[in-house]
Amino acid sequence: MSKTLFWFQAGGCGGDSMAFLSNKWPNISEFIRLNHIELLWHPSFSDGSPAQYIELIDALLSGEQPLDILCVEGFVVRGPGGTGMYDTLEGKPKKDLIAGMAKRAEVVVAVGTCAAFGGVGTVGEVEAVGLQFHRETMGGFLGKDYRSRSGRPVINLPGCPCHMGVTTGALSMIASGSPLPLNEHNAPLDWYGLLVHQGCIRNEYHEYRVEENDFGQRGCLFFHMGCRGPLTRGPCNKLQWNGQRSKTSVGVPCSGCTRPDFPQSNPFFRTRNIAGVPIDLPEGVDRAHYLAYKGMAAAAAPERLKSRKTRV
Ligand code: SF4
Ligand code: SF4
Repeated sequence: MSKTLFWFQAGGCGGDSMAFLSNKWPNISEFIRLNHIELLWHPSFSDGSPAQYIELIDALLSGEQPLDILCVEGFVVRGPGGTGMYDTLEGKPKKDLIAGMAKRAEVVVAVGTCAAFGGVGTVGEVEAVGLQFHRETMGGFLGKDYRSRSGRPVINLPGCPCHMGVTTGALSMIASGSPLPLNEHNAPLDWYGLLVHQGCIRNEYHEYRVEENDFGQRGCLFFHMGCRGPLTRGPCNKLQWNGQRSKTSVGVPCSGCTRPDFPQSNPFFRTRNIAGVPIDLPEGVDRAHYLAYKGMAAAAAPERLKSRKTRV
């Protein structure tokens, strides 16, 4: 039996849609067909009139149109003063439409860091919040106790944008009723149970602390260039983008876009440090042991790494 899916655009950009659209194997039309999804609306595919769109939302809110999967892209705008009137549809705050549809949906999916945690909206004046988190704090717009009709919390698919392989993979598993175990940020463990650092082709350079000060070089980008790969759970080095490359594989530091605290307040591409020692260390490591280990590792670095002979 097919599952109905409605994709709602809230605050933020359409980057998650653009990434989703660029899925190649299969392409999106095939993906929808193969997974028996009945696409009620997507802002980039659907060609119904604005009046039909409003009618559909009314039918979803009243329950006349059953809703299996509600995807929300972008943060929930609550401003000014909690009214939500900075982001409206036909004069109605979108936040109220989201709340109404979330009550009807079998499963709610937050696509992208904005929808999951508030993302870039939390640094502005629109009083933005994620669907069930506000940055690291559970609660968000719907509240920590919210459960969709299937009894699940909002399923978070962070990323700025969310990787197309994650969006299609998660929707496919939801549509087929497969289990989708989640981490403590309600993001699927299949893609958010590992660090970006795992699978990075610069790992040997990191191991021996052979570090770069510029983009596009061969060494590791952690100590100087602000790479957040060892602090960030995400699939970039597992899935690659367009099946080709990731940021770190081409010499650009990971900016931690799947993290609940993204975007960070300090500059990207520069490692915060005290006396040359990074303030933010890889997830779970003990500072004293890590620094002793790194000092010894740098001293033991083989010549082929120091001279950047090993390719990445
Ligand atoms: S998470 Fe990134 S891609 Fe998605 S809406 Fe926000 S800014 Fe756009
Ligand atoms: S570049 Fe970043 S992700 Fe790659 S090994 Fe270095 S710290 Fe890890």
